[in-house]
Amino acid sequence: MRVVTIVGNRPQFVKAAAVSAPLRQTFEEILVHTGQHHDDELSAIFFEELGVPEPDRQLGIHGGSNTEQTARMLDALAGLLAELAPGMVLVYGDTNSTLAGALAAAQARIPVAHVEAGMRSFDRAMPEELNRVLTDHASDLRLCSTPTAMANLGNESVAGESVLVGDVMADVSIRFAPIAEERSRALEEHGLEPGAYVLATAHRAGNVDDPERLALLVALIESIPGPVVFPLHPRTKARLEEHGLTGRLEDVILTPPLGYLDFLKLTRHARAVLTDSGGVQKEAYLLGTPCVTMRDTTEWVETVQAGWNVLVDLDAQAALAALERDIPTGERPELYGGGRAGERIVEALAAYTPAS
Ligand code: UDP
Repeated sequence: MRVVTIVGNRPQFVKAAAVSAPLRQTFEEILVHTGQHHDDELSAIFFEELGVPEPDRQLGIHGGSNTEQTARMLDALAGLLAELAPGMVLVYGDTNSTLAGALAAAQARIPVAHVEAGMRSFDRAMPEELNRVLTDHASDLRLCSTPTAMANLGNESVAGESVLVGDVMADVSIRFAPIAEERSRALEEHGLEPGAYVLATAHRAGNVDDPERLALLVALIESIPGPVVFPLHPRTKARLEEHGLTGRLEDVILTPPLGYLDFLKLTRHARAVLTDSGGVQKEAYLLGTPCVTMRDTTEWVETVQAGWNVLVDLDAQAALAALERDIPTGERPELYGGGRAGERIVEALAAYTPAS
């Protein structure tokens, strides 16, 4: 069977690193890059470092509002899917590329498999939440990271098949953590001591596009004692510059977006991670680093329940208290499938029979 996989942004390149190799042992994969993230720092380096196959097709679509971007992708993908006539389309996560891929395939009556299905923040103000819900309902086979995701889909009575496979980002971080440990020089390059710095990331539209929230975010990061290293997502960098806020972070180590190996190494050795990312919350847990999340909801509720993640929104006092808390002792429960999600996804695709 021919499977068209659609990717477009940084976390999707990481996710594809768990699936493309096992997928290609059983199926013909055609990898389509929509272009949503197109610069080298957010795209090319992930293909190189993680051994993701070169995209077979590049659509070069980026910029514009979510609506415009999704519409352009939908238009381009409709033609491409007609040409390629795959037996299945595989999409990841919750971006415009995910929704456009799922909808274009569903409209062409091609079965859709959705990796990381069923995640919910229950916050419809997040563009990602709308993408997740719509993609799940347009999909035929939903591949879930957690039992919570399976339960969310059950509560929505979504038609079709859902399978618990574990989380693909766990596969990748488990596989690459020892490689990052050996190859990355990020600690030395940024003058950081293991266990003595905080690693920060922020890029959610709700935190950086609204000037008032952006000012709160800057105040929060400024208030953290000790070294803070903050790899700036291009969207965040642009907003900080637009509002003249970059200077306020002069005591913070600002870097361009890091490659996966450097980022993983810095996550592993940080005193704590401060983030509004979805993937980073999980990776911190998997690497045993306490996480403080600058949101008031999360899809990765298990990390909070296990005591390794605290939601503080943009409340600086709450963030400081969360950074000072004792880290949980004892084993971390295996929440995300133990590194076999890629294989299980291929098994689920092979076992799938489309409803007639
Ligand atoms: N990441 C990276 N370099 C960075 C920041 C993040 O390699 O400077 C990786 C991180 O390890 C994770 C992924 O990017 O695998 C998360 O992506 P992002 O935070 O952009 O997206 P989200 O998960 O919030 O959708």
